[in-house]
Amino acid sequence: MTIGDEHFVYNGLPTRVVFGFGTSARMGEEARRIEIKRPLVLSTPEQKNEAQALAANLGMDLAGIFSGATMHTPVEVTEKALYLAIETKADGTIALGGGSTTGLGKAIALRTDLPQIVLPTTYAGSEMTNILGETSDGRKKTLRSPKVQPEVVIYDVELTFTLPPRLSATSGMNAIAHAVEGLYAEDGNPIVTLMALEAIRAMAEGLPAILDRPRDPAARAKALYGAWLCGTVLGSVGMALHHKLCHVLGGSFDLPHADTHTVVLPHVVSFNARAVPEMLAPVAEILHSTGPGQGLFDLAKRIGAPTALKDIGMPADGLDKASAIATESPYYNPRQPTREEIRSLLEDAFNGRRPEL
Ligand code: NAD
Repeated sequence: MTIGDEHFVYNGLPTRVVFGFGTSARMGEEARRIEIKRPLVLSTPEQKNEAQALAANLGMDLAGIFSGATMHTPVEVTEKALYLAIETKADGTIALGGGSTTGLGKAIALRTDLPQIVLPTTYAGSEMTNILGETSDGRKKTLRSPKVQPEVVIYDVELTFTLPPRLSATSGMNAIAHAVEGLYAEDGNPIVTLMALEAIRAMAEGLPAILDRPRDPAARAKALYGAWLCGTVLGSVGMALHHKLCHVLGGSFDLPHADTHTVVLPHVVSFNARAVPEMLAPVAEILHSTGPGQGLFDLAKRIGAPTALKDIGMPADGLDKASAIATESPYYNPRQPTREEIRSLLEDAFNGRRPEL
């Protein structure tokens, strides 16, 4: 987009961000700033110890700790946490963890308007968005509401040191997917493009170094900074074919979230590069590749992430069903795919073929 040629709209996100090393020590101060005096701390069962350590250092009354957060934000889990929040008269939540824990905080905020502080420990980016995906009766529904946008996000790079290299790789590719789709978003704008390219650059530098040295402070800082920007892109503009396909594959075949994003992204980017080559050329340049899809595929390989749907639980006989569901309802994409084109794209992703562009 050339400035002055076209009009654009940019929506700033209202979330306050604190970024750095050891920033979780500022938790109590940040809570008091937004008048939280009795928080409910949230985590997954796997991060219960970290949640307890954080709670012990808060220096304020605690409503409690709920360590039952889980993937896809099931409504039954939200109801349990909600009951605890009401029983204990919590006046805010502190979510320590990845997208699953952040999702639980958002689901509580949707129902109570309680203010949220999030300490992200993965690169999922949910903390920067007003999006919530909830599961009920086996169906995941996604909504956007200003009620679920967290008030404060504290990025403490040290909290990411323990994220295992494989999870770092797929979580990082999941983040890159937000940035890439922001480049050709229907409501894209120059500010989002700036953030998206900076984000991809930071991730492309941080992720390979993390594979070699998982506790490298500079690499971890780069990746978390990139993840923040990726999340901001996701929260600022609408997504396209890639997110649609991942939603279909996750919902219909229960494939792991970040792995699915990792495998599908290079193929969608290669497909879209034929329609909007100028928007995706900087991705190839950042990744030192001849094509943007190829660059992303090579990055995934290099950081030990999966590159084939068949390796992450996709059944071969599910490709027809997935292509059919993905073309059932209309959605924005810079290049409208036919069902056959989606089938062929998914087949390439299934087999882990390196894309053409
Ligand atoms: P996750 O939150 O499910 O975490 C995966 C596992 O890693 C968990 O067991 C967790 O406890 C553990 N973990 C997290 N950080 C760790 C660390 N630093 N050290 C050790 N272990 C750690 O995974 P995720 O990929 O962050 O989130 C996926 C979920 O987030 C999906 O349900 C997805 O739909 C959602 N999501 C939502 C949005 C949004 O805007 N609403 C955006 C992205 C993802």
